[in-house]
Amino acid sequence: MFRSFGLERASLPEWSWICRKAGCVTRYERQRYRMVERQIRKRGVRNSRVLAAMEKVPRHRFVPEDSSEHAYEDSPLSIGKGQTISQPYMVAVMTESAVPEAHERVLEVGTGSGYQTAILAELAREVYSIERIPELAERAKGLLGRLGYENVFIRVGDGSEGWGEMAPFDAIVVTAGAPDIPEPLVEQLGLGGRLVIPIGSSHHQTLCTVRKETKSIRKEEGTGCVFVPLIGTFAWEEKAAEKHS
Ligand code: SAH
Repeated sequence: MFRSFGLERASLPEWSWICRKAGCVTRYERQRYRMVERQIRKRGVRNSRVLAAMEKVPRHRFVPEDSSEHAYEDSPLSIGKGQTISQPYMVAVMTESAVPEAHERVLEVGTGSGYQTAILAELAREVYSIERIPELAERAKGLLGRLGYENVFIRVGDGSEGWGEMAPFDAIVVTAGAPDIPEPLVEQLGLGGRLVIPIGSSHHQTLCTVRKETKSIRKEEGTGCVFVPLIGTFAWEEKAAEKHS
């Protein structure tokens, strides 16, 4: 039967190719293509690998079931425990700024739902991700496993301290807002490495990209953003974050 489609063997990607050819894409796939076109490509994200990853990863699986209808909308969504899955555009911008190459190792701080983790895992060789809240880390680990990501390593801890045993990293993506750049993260960047992190108050931040060069650190400021606070030794104190929230 598969021969008649000119295919060598039956596997999932080929089935989806048959489906695509026949024009029978699912509702969520359609919503995802629209999300990439309208919210991401139109606003200037051009890296084709980033766009392909955003088209591929099923964002609706990363949000609570009663929000899956809203998964592809232009906004962050609650994932429980007072945390959020970032707006799709913000995930794309952060990923594009970190430019993870296929042979590179990436550290993510703030696993949350695991959605940004999956996008990074599509692009890089290995993704190490740290989450402070054990329940979120467990949930993300389970889902990423079920979706077949074998290049993701998640642990519970304070990501503002980085993951020293696994350093250096080619890119570090922090998905929570910090008052300043945590020193250990800069130390754990390899030469030529990029650190992408929202810096500012607990109400509003600027997305910063730090590049580690031979003799210096180069910092660039990008778009304004609003992230939940990064809580840890080299970030906000838990009490201070509560007071500001
Ligand atoms: N990347 C996530 C965004 C989650 S929101 C996603 O795509 O869903 C940010 C996450 O950072 C929250 O889950 C929060 O618990 C976590 N966080 C805050 N401070 C942290 C720290 N010091 N170390 C690790 N995770 C932290």
